[in-house]
Amino acid sequence: MATELASPRSHKPPTWRAARGFQISHSMRSAADARTKMSRNLSRATSQPADSSVPDEFLQYARRADPAVSPEDFLPRALYGDYLDETLSAARRAAPSHLQFEHLHAEVHAVRRWRREAPLRVELTDGSALVADAVVLAVGNAQPARLPQIAAIEQHPAYVADPWRVPSAFAGERVLLIGTGLTMVDIATAAWERSEGPAVIHAVSRHGLVPPRQTAFRPDALRADGEAVLLAAAPSTRRLVSAVRELVADAELAGGDWREAVSFVRKAAPTVWQRMPAVERQRFLRHARSYWDVHRHRLPAENLRRIESLRAAGKLQVHAARLVATRADEDGVHVTLRPRGAVKREELLVDRVVNCTGPDFDLRRLNDPLWRQLREDGLAVPDELGLGLRTGPHGAVFDREGWPGPRLFYLGPMLRADHWEATAALELRDHAEQLAARLAAQLSDNPALAAGKAARSDRSSP
Ligand SMILES: Cc1cc2nc3c(=O)[nH]c(=O)nc-3n(C[C@H](O)[C@H](O)[C@H](O)COP(=O)(O)OP(=O)(O)OC[C@H]3O[C@@H](n4cnc5c(N)ncnc54)[C@H](O)[C@@H]3O)c2cc1C
Repeated sequence: MATELASPRSHKPPTWRAARGFQISHSMRSAADARTKMSRNLSRATSQPADSSVPDEFLQYARRADPAVSPEDFLPRALYGDYLDETLSAARRAAPSHLQFEHLHAEVHAVRRWRREAPLRVELTDGSALVADAVVLAVGNAQPARLPQIAAIEQHPAYVADPWRVPSAFAGERVLLIGTGLTMVDIATAAWERSEGPAVIHAVSRHGLVPPRQTAFRPDALRADGEAVLLAAAPSTRRLVSAVRELVADAELAGGDWREAVSFVRKAAPTVWQRMPAVERQRFLRHARSYWDVHRHRLPAENLRRIESLRAAGKLQVHAARLVATRADEDGVHVTLRPRGAVKREELLVDRVVNCTGPDFDLRRLNDPLWRQLREDGLAVPDELGLGLRTGPHGAVFDREGWPGPRLFYLGPMLRADHWEATAALELRDHAEQLAARLAAQLSDNPALAAGKAARSDRSSP
């Protein structure tokens, strides 16, 4: 986002002055940092290369370190972080002298508004505050949801609510990972990479589905009228599922497989989602979501091989079951599961339980101080399906009265309430580009700023 704002393509020349004082707050605590370390250990992907989501620039950057890197490779997330750092530094060097960029190490705990049109006051946990003409909430991923089934062990040391704060390599422990998606794969693989891994890892989800393998993308396996087929089916989930099956069958006939079709649907998802009536979105979430998620997220072949060999050795046991309850005593944590399709329950005894259900974006539940304040002050409202945030054009955040913005914007995965697919760097990058252009225009239209009168970034100390 900052790179885009500093980029000349976002601005007509007079706009530079308008953007003066734009500031970015940045927290010391970073879930992304934790992931970065994980990915360095795991050499895990930073993007889905096979559907061309590696921006060309990033590919060129990666090739400077290793000329053999191909667009199909999964690259370490740490490398993507280095690339972003370098891109931002280059944008800062190229920016006109009157554009200031300040990187603050502080946590924002409140954004306050007195009048709809007035600038916003951004309050930091160190007691200081900023006044900003526009604020972009780009705060990344939230923690996993609180699960009612773990209520009895929530405060117990054996329970890990945030998988990125896993305290150990689980040496010799029996571990239950709740969730069987990418987070489970990251945590399980990392644990087994240590010299002394866990005794056994159980992973549970209702369908017990583990992400499948990624393959090379074959754009020629897609039919030309695919988007029209999807848009025509969008008013009904049932028809949409049939349309996707049709695209898969066509891709297979053309020598590809379901991955081409799913990648294609993913690109069309925002338009399709916007055409779906609320009741159909609900139906999709109830009946098709877990299948969509498991096919949309894929693993590099090497990671899947590792997972399969752990399963074959009995070191990783994946359960298709519902988590019913947990309780702790001196022996460990007793977990009750009800296997899919079965009436009889099963018991597991483990030493540790880790919530790997992925980030929870339901604003009604988020307990983070900033989101709580925005929700309580009516500056941000949840969407009706609990997917994230109600936003308008360019991520303008709707307030309680139903007005979007005009000064508060959001950029991140909670955009999925309106766009469905808004998680990966590729999708967010597009949103960032559009928002940067909008902000540059908005700030240049502000006469006070254009005249250089308002130093909106003034920081007031405690
Ligand atoms: C487990 C996992 C794996 C993923 N893997 C991939 C992948 O391989 N490829 C891909 O494209 N995408 C992946 N994603 C999605 C990925 O999160 C996004 O693509 C990308 O990180 C989003 O960038 P961001 O800047 O919006 O958020 P982040 O990178 O999370 O950055 C948010 C920043 O905001 C800061 N912050 C938060 N709250 C505050 C506050 N109150 N005050 C001040 N600062 C604050 C945080 O400390 C952090 O620095 C993954 C997500 C998860 C959860």
